Amino acid sequence: MGLVVQKYGGSSVADAEGIKRVAKRIVEAKKNGNQVVVIVSAMGDTTDELIDLAEQVSPMPAGREFDMLLTAGERISMALLAMAIKNLGHEAQSFTGSQAGVITDSVHNKARIIDVTPGRIRESIDQGNIAIVAGFQGVSADKKDITTLGRGGSDTTAVALAAALDAEVCEIYTDVDGVFTADPRVVKKARKIDWISFEDMLELAASGSKVLLHRCVEYARRYNIPIHVRSSFSGLQGTWVSSKPIEQGDKKVEQAIISGVAHDTSEAKITVVGVPDKPGEAAAIFRAIADAEINIDMVVQNVSAASTGLTDISFTLPKTEGRKAIDALERNRGGIGFDSLRYDDQIGKISLVGAGMKTNPGVTADFFTALSDAGVNIELISTSEIRISVVTRKDDVAEAVRAVHTAFGLDSDTDEAVVYGGTGR
Ligand code: ADP
Ligand code: ASP
Ligand code: MG
Repeated sequence: MGLVVQKYGGSSVADAEGIKRVAKRIVEAKKNGNQVVVIVSAMGDTTDELIDLAEQVSPMPAGREFDMLLTAGERISMALLAMAIKNLGHEAQSFTGSQAGVITDSVHNKARIIDVTPGRIRESIDQGNIAIVAGFQGVSADKKDITTLGRGGSDTTAVALAAALDAEVCEIYTDVDGVFTADPRVVKKARKIDWISFEDMLELAASGSKVLLHRCVEYARRYNIPIHVRSSFSGLQGTWVSSKPIEQGDKKVEQAIISGVAHDTSEAKITVVGVPDKPGEAAAIFRAIADAEINIDMVVQNVSAASTGLTDISFTLPKTEGRKAIDALERNRGGIGFDSLRYDDQIGKISLVGAGMKTNPGVTADFFTALSDAGVNIELISTSEIRISVVTRKDDVAEAVRAVHTAFGLDSDTDEAVVYGGTGR
């Protein structure tokens, strides 16, 4: 008997009909002779609605209470899903993240899983139940407070439980047929990828392809858990994310030169204006940001004007951390020394990802040519071995993604990508 771990995202359980549809699918897996553990997200846009609600009562809610609120979303869907399964004549039990043994550090709103002790889940499935686990949440090791894993965190819960339960595969069910060469909501001609390496998927996820969360892919790579991303609305094969290419019939799927184009409009840019151009200044700025537990993405420092000896330093960070970062810098203004701060949340990032970049020197030039042909102005650039990213105006992002997708020959000449549900929020 195999053990199957399945995760269903919010758009797959957006309403009562969705929950009943998913329940049938889960029961099928059980009837095929498997032990089944299901991780479920909050219904539809529930998490966003809870965040809006919190902001109405407090502009900067305390992390502990914020997490307590957000985890309620997953508790609703886990209980409803267990009820729907029981209604189909099968035994199911729901568990919170804490009950399922998801132990985290105590960084509220973006806690990291440090251990998984799924004794109760094992016991439940050994008794013949289908176990339903609330995604995106855990309990902190030290204070025993409820934590959340960051937006999209149910993906990480799923892989972490798959690893702890020694499952062969972790199935991620969502509202598109797999991982595509670009977001199908933006590029209708995006192509479904049959297989992608952990490395390329990590870069896509880190660059904003929210179909899988970055931390989930990191976790899967560390424990070598293959992920199968597929639609909960169709019966099609999806995308395999794993260390080795899959076989299709008698042929191996090849590693693509370019895996895809990712975009991200969830970041903002802060410019620290008028920083003295002397050693230790960048260190002081980023120490203040790090002490506030804020992760930054790209950094650039301008050449200083010789006459003033002052320079500007810009960096990007999640918009959700914008206010906290500005507060942290203002608090340390005396120690750092700068003239002013500029905050810009009208930016977007476009990234091209592919292992083939290492050996194809023309890729960077072609990327910039495609952007310039589309009339897109570049504000920041960063690269890794297998990725190039640029920051542009937010309004240019969709056009830029399509232009780059076409320029690299990624457009599908047969099918249009299907988006089955979700609001794209
Ligand atoms: P879920 O609620 O199932 O977790 P998400 O909204 O988090 O779903 O992720 C699925 C969405 O990810 C898709 O609807 C799609 O708009 C978006 N997406 C972004 N980039 C990609 C990509 N490269 N391939 C597939 N989907 C993508
Ligand atoms: N419900 C959470 C969110 O919307 C977690 C998840 O869906 O994975 O971010
Ligand atoms: Mg998601």
